[in-house]
Amino acid sequence: MSAVPLRASEFQPQVDRVVTVLGATGSIGTSTIDLLRRSRDRFRVEALTAHSNVAALAKLAIEFNVRFAAVAEEQRYDELKSALAGTGIAVGAGEGAMIEAAQRPANWVMAAMSGAAGLKPAIAAAERGVTVALANKECLVCAGEVFMRTAEKNGACVLPVDSEHNALFQAMGAGRREDLTKVILTASGGPFRTWTREQIENATIEQALKHPNWSMGRKITIDSASMFNKGLEIIEAYHLFDLEPDQIDVLVHPQSIIHGLVEFSDRSVIAQMGAPDMRTPIAHCLAWPERIDGPAQKLDLAAIGQLTFEAPDPVRFPSLRLVQAALRAGGAIPTVFNAANEVAVDAFLNGRIGFGGIARLVEATMEAAARTNSLPQTADDALSIDHSSRNMARSLLPEIAAKAS
Ligand code: NAD
Ligand code: MG
Repeated sequence: MSAVPLRASEFQPQVDRVVTVLGATGSIGTSTIDLLRRSRDRFRVEALTAHSNVAALAKLAIEFNVRFAAVAEEQRYDELKSALAGTGIAVGAGEGAMIEAAQRPANWVMAAMSGAAGLKPAIAAAERGVTVALANKECLVCAGEVFMRTAEKNGACVLPVDSEHNALFQAMGAGRREDLTKVILTASGGPFRTWTREQIENATIEQALKHPNWSMGRKITIDSASMFNKGLEIIEAYHLFDLEPDQIDVLVHPQSIIHGLVEFSDRSVIAQMGAPDMRTPIAHCLAWPERIDGPAQKLDLAAIGQLTFEAPDPVRFPSLRLVQAALRAGGAIPTVFNAANEVAVDAFLNGRIGFGGIARLVEATMEAAARTNSLPQTADDALSIDHSSRNMARSLLPEIAAKAS
């Protein structure tokens, strides 16, 4: 059986849901906490983690009376320890503590750290054969085969949190898997949907951080503006649902009301809709296969009036072309694609390259890596390719920065 269950009847709900949130202080983490706060009697929180915000982490740990709280920055151990002194909450710090948090006895783990740093903790949760609500798409792009194989082998249930994939997951329940012909991921088009190539090339950080529909972390907001987010999501869908690359389409839909569509062989197309609020897909994963009350705004289609659609433009948004190249090349290239993009977004946010430089840096890194292309077999393999790709991308940075128009 696939790690992503085909329909609700395949899954026996656990009566007591014990929850761990990896990346509890982020955008997805905060939305998850908001839902947990609204259903205190249904869930017990085992462990929470954060990168560096000790004050926020300690506050949540006390509020939910968790058993374990961990911060990724090792040097913040003492700070966390003293913030939680006298509470009886166990404390950890560093990368190992992120894995330890994932290994604690929860039966539902939210993987919401950002970037490839979330890979090992997500794998540690999958190895325990529990339910992994997966928000961290970079983990699938960096090491999709390894992660899905680990989940399958250990009987873990992977639930897609990303709104488009959650939509596909919900829509897939309408038919048999063998009758599915295609999936369509919608994309808002981001803040630069109607901009010219030149305008996009020279977009500022402030402009790129202004997403029209969704409020999210900085990395994914930049990815949405460049449409690298959709590129990552194509690879995410490829692994989650075991699809062929040509079965995954992208459709620009500026209102972000339809999140994903599934086409079946009889040409029926099933779509999932909802207001753009991540608490809806997270609530779906939290309660699945049941449903809980969601706090998002009710969908009022009459008030929205119109839903519109456009074909994506791979010329103004080269990420869509690059992701197809990455999937065609296979092997380590999707890992390189992800790592180079993480370096590029960071360089853009630090003012080292212009917006147009993001795609150029990713493309140059993919080209440089093409010679040594082999599929990562383990998480360590993937992380070592991730590491060398980051170094390669960093070494190409000055050249890309100099080429700025
Ligand atoms: P965010 O930056 O707001 O939060 C990330 C969380 O992970 C924070 O708690 C941070 O402290 C922690 N973290 C970051 N780097 C870490 C590291 N190196 N080690 C340990 N902890 C670390 O990001 P987000 O927007 O919540 O996104 C989280 C993940 O979910 C990303 O993979 C993103 O692509 C995915 N996602 C987000 C959204 C959204 O609406 N925000 C939607 C779909 C998917
Ligand atoms: Mg998404």
